[in-house]
Amino acid sequence: MTDCVAPVESHTDDRFSAYRLVQTAAFVSFAGVSVGMGVEIVRGAAAFGVFWLVVVALVAYTAADFVSGFVHFLADTFGSPETPWLGRAFILPFREHHRDPTGILRHPFMVANGNNCLVALPPLLLVWLFVPVATSRTGYLTGGFFLFFSVAIFLTNQFHKWAHTDEPAGWVRAFQARGLVLSKSHHDIHHVSPFDTYYCITVGWCNPLLQRIRFFERTEAVVRRFVPGVSREKPPAGAGARAPSLLS
Ligand SMILES: [Zn+2]
Ligand SMILES: [Zn+2]
Repeated sequence: MTDCVAPVESHTDDRFSAYRLVQTAAFVSFAGVSVGMGVEIVRGAAAFGVFWLVVVALVAYTAADFVSGFVHFLADTFGSPETPWLGRAFILPFREHHRDPTGILRHPFMVANGNNCLVALPPLLLVWLFVPVATSRTGYLTGGFFLFFSVAIFLTNQFHKWAHTDEPAGWVRAFQARGLVLSKSHHDIHHVSPFDTYYCITVGWCNPLLQRIRFFERTEAVVRRFVPGVSREKPPAGAGARAPSLLS
């Protein structure tokens, strides 16, 4: 997501800042809204059952995985750190991550996850405020989707960080071994030059299919052909090709 969904950790230093305050406020708000939505869903489950909620949860988790990959693909493929507005805040962290994959391990929780929290909060808040989750079947499933989707987006960079951790906690390894979160062996496929496959970093369920249908390759070709301002030429393969101006 941004990593909206992805490695949207800050590339600046970790000093306390106004921006960190905003991220912290977003995290507290996100936690509160998630709990509130969870309570609504528990009430809805009593009326509408849990079968379709489980289906919706799987769809939401898969959707978050796809979105994580699509955002990651955009940041890895187009523009540069000098791109106005998005360059330094959005593109640079992804490109730096290829050069320094373990840099993410040095980022504390809020640095690693604050931006994803910022993007996950607004849609969840809107659904919580305006959708009758506990009293309507459609609202119940809509609320379930957005809760699971938003939480998955929020956790994506944490899952990504664990995939770069040599010895994560035992319960994290258990989740990784069962394919319930992104695993190191799966994500390592992306970290091979020219970094143009297996972009999905929530759990990776979408990666094999997207690779088989050459989704990102074809999307890149379409964007390069039709989107004004995007170079028609694909950069040459190589580690520096996608991050030409990042190396200090
Ligand atoms: Zn990448
Ligand atoms: Zn990575």
